[in-house]
Amino acid sequence: MKGLKWLATVSAFALTVCTVPALADVKIEDIVNDAATTNDVVSNGLGPQGQRYSTLTAINKENVANLAPAWAMSLGGEKMRGQETQPLVKDGVMYITGSYSRMWAIDVKTGREIWQYDHRLPEGILPCCDVVNRGAALYGDKVIFGTLDAKLVGLDAKTGKVVWTKEIDDFKAGYSYTAAPLIVPTKAHGALLLTGVSGGEFGVVGRVEGRKVDTGELVWSRPTIEGHMGSLNGKPSTMTGDKVNASWPGDLWKTGGGATWLGGTYDPDTGLAFFGTGNPGPWNSHMRPGDNKWSCSRIAIDPETGEIKWGYQTTPNDGWDFDGVNEVVSFDADGKKLAATADRNGFLYVLDRTNGAFQAAYPFVNKITWAKEIGKDGRPVYVPENRPGDPKAGKDGKKGASVFAVPSFLGGKNWMPMAYSQQTKLFYVPSNEWGMDIWNEPVAYKKGAAYLGAGFTIKPIFEDHIGSLKAIDPLTGKTAWEYKNRAPLWGGVLTTAGGIVFFGTPEGEFKGLDATDGKELFSFNTGSGIVGSPITWEQDGEQMVSIVSGWGGAVPLWGGEVAKTVANLNQGGMVWTFKLPKKLAAN
Ligand code: CA
Ligand code: CA
Repeated sequence: MKGLKWLATVSAFALTVCTVPALADVKIEDIVNDAATTNDVVSNGLGPQGQRYSTLTAINKENVANLAPAWAMSLGGEKMRGQETQPLVKDGVMYITGSYSRMWAIDVKTGREIWQYDHRLPEGILPCCDVVNRGAALYGDKVIFGTLDAKLVGLDAKTGKVVWTKEIDDFKAGYSYTAAPLIVPTKAHGALLLTGVSGGEFGVVGRVEGRKVDTGELVWSRPTIEGHMGSLNGKPSTMTGDKVNASWPGDLWKTGGGATWLGGTYDPDTGLAFFGTGNPGPWNSHMRPGDNKWSCSRIAIDPETGEIKWGYQTTPNDGWDFDGVNEVVSFDADGKKLAATADRNGFLYVLDRTNGAFQAAYPFVNKITWAKEIGKDGRPVYVPENRPGDPKAGKDGKKGASVFAVPSFLGGKNWMPMAYSQQTKLFYVPSNEWGMDIWNEPVAYKKGAAYLGAGFTIKPIFEDHIGSLKAIDPLTGKTAWEYKNRAPLWGGVLTTAGGIVFFGTPEGEFKGLDATDGKELFSFNTGSGIVGSPITWEQDGEQMVSIVSGWGGAVPLWGGEVAKTVANLNQGGMVWTFKLPKKLAAN
């Protein structure tokens, strides 16, 4: 005991003299309460409910125009691709992930690098949509993230040294990992690390897994596709769905997709973790008549057991690659525990988050072709002639009838997270207005090969813009205001009690808009396109705002005619941190 006491004295002394900040323990309460504590950001979404709302007001409508860079740090190297990360901040240290499965710890006062971790990636990784990473998770003395070769890596937060590594699955079969892991409390297992899988274009089967944070050891696994068996504590648990072939024909469920590639959110009020699931495989819907559960859905999972408590399918029998992965954001209104989620398919859904009951759905992009509306029963009212045709019905069986579909498969909204303001009661939804020619082709599953059975070309539908940030009232579906952007929006949104909506554009502008009317109050060019998500926190009495800049993501790779219009945008990799000049902050 004497030894321990001596150690504590020494480390306290080290803290006071050392210029490099040291990490304190991140406790599960810190994560659960993250939204309420303004001096740190210890979860993806600025709180596990994913509202991306800060109660800070020091930066506000009156002074945001004066926001100025405090420091910037380059991610360096030859690996400047899409930077889709959201920084985390704890005790004066920022943790960011970058393209090609890299991570950094940075001193938030100076912007100096404390350590850098470069994951050694093997040849032959199969990321579908750029070599991105969307962020890390903090717990205890560790920082954890996923890699493009489908591994989870737990690093010592102080040193960046590897503590544990676990393989999620075989990267040669198309598995990879890009989402920010989610850490949730459980009674049975302590804090659990919840992750999904990427690879929905390769016929993988989606699943959500719960692991011990300290070791990465698997506790439970829950496949998203009907017919597959889950596991708990090393033993088979229950099958997903009611029975094999209830909503899938033949053997197609075995390579059924439903990838959980965007990770999840957690609601402390209900104790549920919400994950979205991607497209069914293959894209050609005529091969798999039925609803194809739980592809293109939101599922609520009990973290104690990995059991699905409820599911809600946004696009049954998807034929457009309308992945249902988008973040489920909890909010309370009308005395109800609700959740909203804006889907690739162009509709914003409001659900009862206690049981998944459908409340309402509103179109948040224009000219939607595939469905007339979402019916009172929560199912889409399809427009049958706007479904891409069956290749078997064609002349030679090689190509089905092509249709023009809106939204495009990159979605009315893609991965980029929206924000909810407790002040304005509006959701700020980063959306894109575009369509695509899409047609089906014959396809068979082959391990590690694209499993689409479809061809496509994305096209704009308006002359002056594709990107559209909309402020939407979740109780009426009314759009309070819209901010149009020439290039497609691909970055996340942050809103604050200072009345600001922060987001970035592919043109490189980091912007602050008035949360009430959308008027532009602040804009700063970061030198490369922004596809990351901003954060804000309070550091030594000052409000700070950070965004990682660096153009890339799916649009330049898959954007068809749209990709040509953004081909001139420069790649990069830079963390920008802003604050008010001291004089102004004091006023
Ligand atoms: Ca916090
Ligand atoms: Ca997909």
